[in-house]
Amino acid sequence: MFEALSSKLNGVFDRLRRRGALSETDVQEALREVRVALLEADVALPVVKDLTARVRERAVGQEVLKSVSPAQQVIKIVNDALVEALGGGEGDTGARGLDLNAPAPVPVLMVGLQGSGKTTTSGKIALRLKTREKKKVLLASLDVHRPAAQLQLETLAKQVGVTSLPIVAGQTPLQIAERAMDVARRELYDVVVLDTAGRLAIDEALMAEVAQVKAFARPHETLLVVDAMTGQDAVNTARAFQEKVGVTGIVMTRIDGDARGGAALSMRAVTGAPIKLLGAGEKLDALEDFHPDRIAGRILG
Ligand code: GDP
Repeated sequence: MFEALSSKLNGVFDRLRRRGALSETDVQEALREVRVALLEADVALPVVKDLTARVRERAVGQEVLKSVSPAQQVIKIVNDALVEALGGGEGDTGARGLDLNAPAPVPVLMVGLQGSGKTTTSGKIALRLKTREKKKVLLASLDVHRPAAQLQLETLAKQVGVTSLPIVAGQTPLQIAERAMDVARRELYDVVVLDTAGRLAIDEALMAEVAQVKAFARPHETLLVVDAMTGQDAVNTARAFQEKVGVTGIVMTRIDGDARGGAALSMRAVTGAPIKLLGAGEKLDALEDFHPDRIAGRILG
């Protein structure tokens, strides 16, 4: 992810560095190029406008231009603006791990479109909680629409070495969620990951089903899984889920691919929800914490 954006921004900044002393026009020209690079990376227009306005405001002042290394100052200002767009800020790296600070069993609801990587991410989260935090995790698939889905989660659970809720044919998603919470309370699980059904596109039936399960389970985290490769669609999907269901965090998958990265930069401004985790591959340990400062560093690499 971010390869094209990163190489374009590096080109802009290399040219700035070579100039030495900078005029206001040099900075304005560089900012125009930054703007084009962000738009080409599919960053949402309001986010691009806001980001470049902030950089302009901070970079065009005499202090920056008269400093010993003006180009370096401009790069730092762009870096800070990227960190802010990604959800970090002054003295706050923006890193948001999962919040499981609630009485056990803590329900975590996984939502998102089909193929986004929801089930895989459920397995990855279970593995992380089991190995890093020694939590006892129960995985439950509420996907009654694709018969293979429940089996897929069962297989994943076996690979991870955690329990999956036994499959009972004919139950509704709500009934499965009730059974999962019941088992979790009786058998003293720490965390219950509820993997809901996805659809190919947003539809009302999907939203109603997810909302019903959410109202019952009252999850401590509702994690929306989106595929970084889908670009602007990922942002639109996130906006719809945020409006109709309400999410506490976003997991962006397939950052190991050649996604342009605009979705990651737009998500916070458009949805208000923080990106919490990144999926960086098919393997079950390919799950990263989201650190805005590190991502900005990767972009400006
Ligand atoms: P779901 O329909 O949302 O539950 O999606 P799945 O979890 O079944 O994932 C769909 C496909 O995407 C599978 O082949 C996964 O191995 C793959 N996948 C999931 N997350 C990632 C990721 O972060 N990177 C890559 N490259 N593939 C992923």
